[in-house]
Amino acid sequence: MALDHVETLECTLCGATYDPEQVVYTCPEHDGVAGILEVVYDYDVVQDRFDASLDGDIRSQWKYRAFLPVDTEATPVTLDEGGTDLLDVPRLGAEFDVDLRVKNDGLNPTGCFKDRATSVAATKARFAGRNVVTCASTGNAAASLAGYAARAGLDCRIFVPESAPEGKLVQPRVYGADVLAVAGSYDEAYDLSLDVTNAYGWYNRNAAINPFQIEGKRTVGHELADQTRDSIPDWVVFSMGDGCTIAGCWKGLREFAELGYVDDTPSMLGVQPEGASAIHDAFHGHDDVDDVADTLADAVAVGRPRNTLKACRALEESGGTALTVSDDDILAAETLLGRTEGIYAEPAGAAPIAGIRRAREAGIIDPDESVVAVVTGLGLKDTAGAKRAVGDVIRVQPSLEDVADQYGTANPDAESSI
Ligand SMILES: [Zn+2]
Repeated sequence: MALDHVETLECTLCGATYDPEQVVYTCPEHDGVAGILEVVYDYDVVQDRFDASLDGDIRSQWKYRAFLPVDTEATPVTLDEGGTDLLDVPRLGAEFDVDLRVKNDGLNPTGCFKDRATSVAATKARFAGRNVVTCASTGNAAASLAGYAARAGLDCRIFVPESAPEGKLVQPRVYGADVLAVAGSYDEAYDLSLDVTNAYGWYNRNAAINPFQIEGKRTVGHELADQTRDSIPDWVVFSMGDGCTIAGCWKGLREFAELGYVDDTPSMLGVQPEGASAIHDAFHGHDDVDDVADTLADAVAVGRPRNTLKACRALEESGGTALTVSDDDILAAETLLGRTEGIYAEPAGAAPIAGIRRAREAGIIDPDESVVAVVTGLGLKDTAGAKRAVGDVIRVQPSLEDVADQYGTANPDAESSI
């Protein structure tokens, strides 16, 4: 057994360090869960074990196993997460006058970016001999954890706010999980999951407090560095909820640059809905932070983000910034992405596209700069919001006359291949 490439867990607030073999979620020196821990690696050991080449050929995120905080003896719990396509999207890019690519992480096994982190969590939980995994979720992490628990043969018990979209409440149950719908907000579901973790000793996957979660998320940064090694973008754009995702990606991008695998790093642009903007507000130094989350982008409907510190650090270190967009902007972006490029994102996954429009208007992104938007979730998970944006279907009788009402009389000389 060897976890010798992980040096220590270091508190982001006070710098205290902890043994990575211990199950420790947050630094006990601080109230609540404020003392988020950072995984610190011995990069000499990591580099000795990383024998892959950066050639853009990525079957799954386990290409970067040497960088993941799992024991060398552990067998991965995997559904081939990661390795998602980085697509040129010229029609969409022309809308904003930028050189745009989309990394479509909605194509992960459960339809969400979070599978990267969950694969690592399930691998660690099973290797540690834990039988029950739990988390609180706005929906996506629940489905993801349930899927990977099934894959690993573990019991899964998850806590979601009762307002989560119906599709997201069905998916984890298909994977055999117990779904406890909490009569309250995500923040209340989150607090309950912590109480339960302490009371029952279940393995908690909550990304913000489980220090290993963000480590799986950083493989999206490794992949972006791998896929853009000859054309590092000026900007990488994410939506932000708890803040772990953008922070994880930045850590991956930064370490590949520091290790000399790539020459440069992009600036990170974080996008939040106007109704759930706590990280944006903190980054810009606003005092009157409102901790109520009110947005149709349920995957980022977080009133009290757990990883504001790491997210703000990612924005600052990368020379990036944060901005907000309205729910109407997000819906418009969702249909624009679908209509121009055939990519169906959930609202939180489309928010980066709305953010690029806003950033162009504000002069944050200049014309012809290169931009990668990361779509974090699949649109089929939540069709209710999009339904508002696309209107109703066209209803017809099964007759040519009704079709003619729509498109005019058919051409009798038209060639038929039937
Ligand atoms: Zn501490």
